[in-house]
Amino acid sequence: MPQYQAVKGTRDIFPDEAAQWKYVEGAVHTLASLYGFSEIRTPVFEYTELFQRGIGATTDIVGKEMFSFLPDPNGRSITLRPEMTAGVMRAALQKNLLSLAPVHKLYYISELFRKERPQAGRQRQFSQFGAELLGVSSPVAVAEVITLMMQVFESLGLTGLNLRINSLGDTADRLRYREALQLYFAPFHDQLDDSSKERLEKNPLRILDSKNPAIQDIIAGAPRLYDYLSTSSVEEFEKVLFYLSERGIAYSVDHRLVRGLDYYCHTAFEVTSSELGAQDALGGGGRYDGLARELGNSQDLPAAGFAVGMERLLITMEKQGLFAALIPHAPLVYVVLQEQELLDHGMQIAFRLRKAGIKTEIDLAARSMKAQMREANKMRASYALFIGKEEEQSGLYALKNLVTSEQSTLSLEAVLDILREPAQRELLKS
Ligand code: AMP
Repeated sequence: MPQYQAVKGTRDIFPDEAAQWKYVEGAVHTLASLYGFSEIRTPVFEYTELFQRGIGATTDIVGKEMFSFLPDPNGRSITLRPEMTAGVMRAALQKNLLSLAPVHKLYYISELFRKERPQAGRQRQFSQFGAELLGVSSPVAVAEVITLMMQVFESLGLTGLNLRINSLGDTADRLRYREALQLYFAPFHDQLDDSSKERLEKNPLRILDSKNPAIQDIIAGAPRLYDYLSTSSVEEFEKVLFYLSERGIAYSVDHRLVRGLDYYCHTAFEVTSSELGAQDALGGGGRYDGLARELGNSQDLPAAGFAVGMERLLITMEKQGLFAALIPHAPLVYVVLQEQELLDHGMQIAFRLRKAGIKTEIDLAARSMKAQMREANKMRASYALFIGKEEEQSGLYALKNLVTSEQSTLSLEAVLDILREPAQRELLKS
């Protein structure tokens, strides 16, 4: 075994898999731009307080999963970002984006870090793509981000996903509900586990999030937040559902779905895949108007967003065979050398082709002509360009279309003319 291994909870992405990532990232970029979202890239680390305030001190992420460190002995603690929303909101407030335009639509594909116990679908470094719609205080915003997320899934060909959705109401609704929960759980206090006991004091909504089988029966009997919503909160939620139905997006209302963060309000949603094991959540999101104030803004800022785990998305796609048609590195033309002494000339030709924007492969391992042809077929090159002594001297090359097997002898200029067109088509596709 080599001396150095990747750190537990991290993994390498080798070229075949990187091609899958690129494909998925391409779909995210295309669809985000179709919906008018622009990409934002924020720093990998932020001041620790940002996450303490922005995610909430009672959450597992802040309580035990952050990679935090002091950059220097007297410095402020900094943390590798465990999620993107707090950083995006910090950036938006810092730049005073909303004073520049009333609405901002941002998306990202970013690496995140959480000190969780590594297991299938749970890493310490992982990636999410997500979107944040800032400045729109209506059900339109949340419907828009859900639609974008679901269209990304659909365009990638994913099936069998389950979108669950719930309303968390507004602050006043939740305060009423919080009291009701505390009253309900109080008689069960001794049967609760330690973390639920702690949550009972600080944030009883999060008890509903517990996966502990021993307390599921107690949880099942708890009052529903939905019954504590005001009329206007119910109307808001129904509007979101109306938009989804109108767009043919299937969902199920799940009154047990909570995202336990204080700044979430109104709609919360989660998407799961039956293809994933115990960690079946693919992504989720909601509306979080209170986050800006939590981060020191003088008032709430309407915001809705989602985040989807890239690794789990890729696992689901792999299981559904959605990468089968993906050819990681198909060159347009493979330069085949009759003998190795022609390598210099071959490299010169390959250079000319590449300069003209034509994806070209040439053997650098001094393999036989037969092996080179095998490689060209394996890589699914569209053309082979043969170089022998004769070709070197005459400047006329045999270009073979590997799909139709048609072959013609041509000058390099003519070869360039023929190959440029498909090369451009390739470029437009990517
Ligand atoms: P969250 O920010 O916790 O709501 O997570 C959103 C999505 O990110 C989840 O549904 C997962 O798909 C993914 N995710 C969260 N934590 C991890 C992790 N440790 N490893 C891999 N994916 C994760």
